[in-house]
Amino acid sequence: MIEKLFVAGVDVFRINMSHTSHALLAELHRHIRNVESKLNRPIGILADLQGPKIRIGTFKDKEVQIKAGDKFAFDTDATPGDSKRVHLPHPEIFASVKVGDFLLLNDGRLRVEIAGVSPDRIETVIIFGGTLSNRKGVNLPNTLLPIAALTEKDRADLEAAASIGVDWIALSFVQRPEDVSEARELIAGRAGVMAKIEKPSALLCLDDILKVSDGIMVARGDLGVELPLETVPARQKQLTRAARRAGKPVVVATQMLESMIVEPVPTRAEVSDVATAVYEGADAIMLSAESAAGAWPEKAVATMDKIALSAEGDSFYRGIMNAQRNDPQPTTADAISTAARSISETLDVAAIVSYTESGSTAMRVARERPNVPIITLTPIPATARRLALAWGQHCVLTPNANDLEHMIETACQFASSEGFAEEGQRIIITVGVPLGSPGSTNMLRIAQVGKKKTPAV
Ligand code: PEP
Repeated sequence: MIEKLFVAGVDVFRINMSHTSHALLAELHRHIRNVESKLNRPIGILADLQGPKIRIGTFKDKEVQIKAGDKFAFDTDATPGDSKRVHLPHPEIFASVKVGDFLLLNDGRLRVEIAGVSPDRIETVIIFGGTLSNRKGVNLPNTLLPIAALTEKDRADLEAAASIGVDWIALSFVQRPEDVSEARELIAGRAGVMAKIEKPSALLCLDDILKVSDGIMVARGDLGVELPLETVPARQKQLTRAARRAGKPVVVATQMLESMIVEPVPTRAEVSDVATAVYEGADAIMLSAESAAGAWPEKAVATMDKIALSAEGDSFYRGIMNAQRNDPQPTTADAISTAARSISETLDVAAIVSYTESGSTAMRVARERPNVPIITLTPIPATARRLALAWGQHCVLTPNANDLEHMIETACQFASSEGFAEEGQRIIITVGVPLGSPGSTNMLRIAQVGKKKTPAV
């Protein structure tokens, strides 16, 4: 199935650590790398940490019914609850909430307002009632909690994922830049660090979170619980644009093709939602239950792929990308990337070929959203895999060439052998001289593709 999903259009596989043991992580990692070797294409793996999900305790009868207008308390008493109270096994919450704050229960289906707080009890009034059962999740949208984004389980999962060689690690419930910096230190360059934006508090310091993250995710599942649902589309635009300004990949996630968990065809509204994320310039669009547990995983991926290709091939897409283009930063890499994009609009070129070591130049070229394919050549497998998440990248692993002329020739050969350029077509090549030193892109060349040869690998 992993191979089928890749062929259907997957660039990156997300492994949700909420549901994955270390043994299963290792098994999935092995399967994905086997497909990678078999098909000779770099594939990204993203390990998504569970984060500090807050849950209530249990009930004597497993569940209770609570009604709007009734009183209900959360306390520090570990005995099973009833229709008047339940244990909340997170003592830090009692010191952080205040009268007037809301608690949302069971993915936001139930809502209670805090009427009184003491060190061991939170009194609430039910606003929206319903069934509340054992260990349901709790969200506190208006409260900045003094809890780190990494639990003990997250730390163990992070180490397992980083040491096995995943390409990205996503952090759930990031509230502040320090949460990302802490994980960054533990990851120590072994994977890209993705901040999942799902708390209103993260939106208040988004630019600082972006500075210390390698990418972000618009995690609409929890964001839609923590914020009024009708505000999520605007926040999606805010997050996508902020990430694009920073030149860091942004993933739009959750309920994109939800009906395909059971149906073989999506709703029109879902197709429109996926296309909207693409028209906004998202780097990646994500499936969750549709591919992890649904009846039509392969169809869901192929459907998403078709929608993305159709949107990106539409003339409106180019118009939106041109209108939303961000100014380059005053760096050599941005000057070269902007020039490459501008030349690709002036001349009839088939592709931009970028040599990259760390992947940073390839990200800057992607930030330009050029209207021709970006072929990224790198000798480093981890770079190729990490770039699988970024917009428009077709990465090819190849050793560094010995000299500039060999580099130009190799770029032309790959543009042709990978199916992006015909004999006689021009390509743009960006490269750093001296060769092989990271962060040194300083040269742009226009070359003409010669007769087809097999590239030297
Ligand atoms: C989300 O909340 O949208 C999300 C992607 O996170 P998770 O899948 O862990 O709920």
